[in-house]
Amino acid sequence: MKVASILGVRPQFVKASVVSRELRKKHEEILIHTGQHYDYQMNKVFFEQLNIPEPDYHLDIGSGTHGYQTGEMLKKIEEVLIKEKPDLVLTYGDTNSTLAGALAASKLHIKTAHVESGLRSFDRSMPEEINRILTDHCSDILFCPTQSAVNNLKNEGITENVYLTGDVMVDSLLYNREIAENKSTILNDLGLKNKEYLVATIHRASNTDDEVNLKNIVDAFSELNETIIFPLHPRTEKFLKKYGLYDKLKSSVILTKPLGFFEFIKLMDHAKMMLTDSGGVQKEAYVLKVPCLTLRENTEWIETVEDGWNVLVGADKEKIVRMVNNFSPSLNTHSNRFGNATASANIVSILK
Ligand code: UDP
Repeated sequence: MKVASILGVRPQFVKASVVSRELRKKHEEILIHTGQHYDYQMNKVFFEQLNIPEPDYHLDIGSGTHGYQTGEMLKKIEEVLIKEKPDLVLTYGDTNSTLAGALAASKLHIKTAHVESGLRSFDRSMPEEINRILTDHCSDILFCPTQSAVNNLKNEGITENVYLTGDVMVDSLLYNREIAENKSTILNDLGLKNKEYLVATIHRASNTDDEVNLKNIVDAFSELNETIIFPLHPRTEKFLKKYGLYDKLKSSVILTKPLGFFEFIKLMDHAKMMLTDSGGVQKEAYVLKVPCLTLRENTEWIETVEDGWNVLVGADKEKIVRMVNNFSPSLNTHSNRFGNATASANIVSILK
């Protein structure tokens, strides 16, 4: 079978690395990279560390408004699909690249499969939520990481070709955890000791583009009496500078470039706590048994909250400070909610 996989952003590289390895044992795969993330630290470093094959097509779309990005991707992905005639298009997650890939394929009557299907935050102001819903509704095969994702699809009337596979990010995290531990020197480089620092990542539009929310977060971080490592997403850097908050943040935390996967997962593995608005990081923190505060009002990874290992604190300064000082979840409530690192093998065997 000939499979065209659509990638464009950091978390998709992490997810595709494990599925691609499994897929290529039996099938032909072509990689289409939309270029949504293009900086070395957001893009190339993942291909190098995770041994992802060089994409067959670079569409070089880059940054832009949602309409521009999605429209350009749709046009260019369609051209590639017409030329390559794959049997299946594989999409991942909830980005503009995901939606454009699924839409281009379904309009050409090419079967599409969506990995990380069925997740819902029930917040339609998030661009990711719109991408998830539309992608699920135009995909033929739906690979769900959790039972709650299967239930969400059922509630929207989607019950055919829905498979509970477990989570591919867990495959990737567990496959690379020991490699990262041995290869990365990040703790030494930053002068850090096990469980004596926090790690923060912020990049959701609701936090970066909103001046009040971004200021609350910067104020909270500067009030905390903790060592905080903050790998800075390009979008967040842009808005911190725009709103004049960059210098204040820089004086209260250790700012770094976005980190390579090995550096980041090692840093996370040894952290005392995560502060994040990332979807993937909430889940990875849970799997690594690192307490997580999520700087959002909702999450699609509801299992992490149900088990008491993740608390939604929004962009509320008081809540962030209070919870950092008081949050200590119990190992007794930690259950294995995201599969046993067999998601990629499950996906490929279902495709067969
Ligand atoms: N990540 C990374 N370096 C960083 C920050 C995150 O390698 O500096 C990884 C992280 O381990 C996870 C993925 O990037 O696998 C999450 O991506 P992101 O937070 O950009 O996207 P989301 O999961 O919110 O869609």
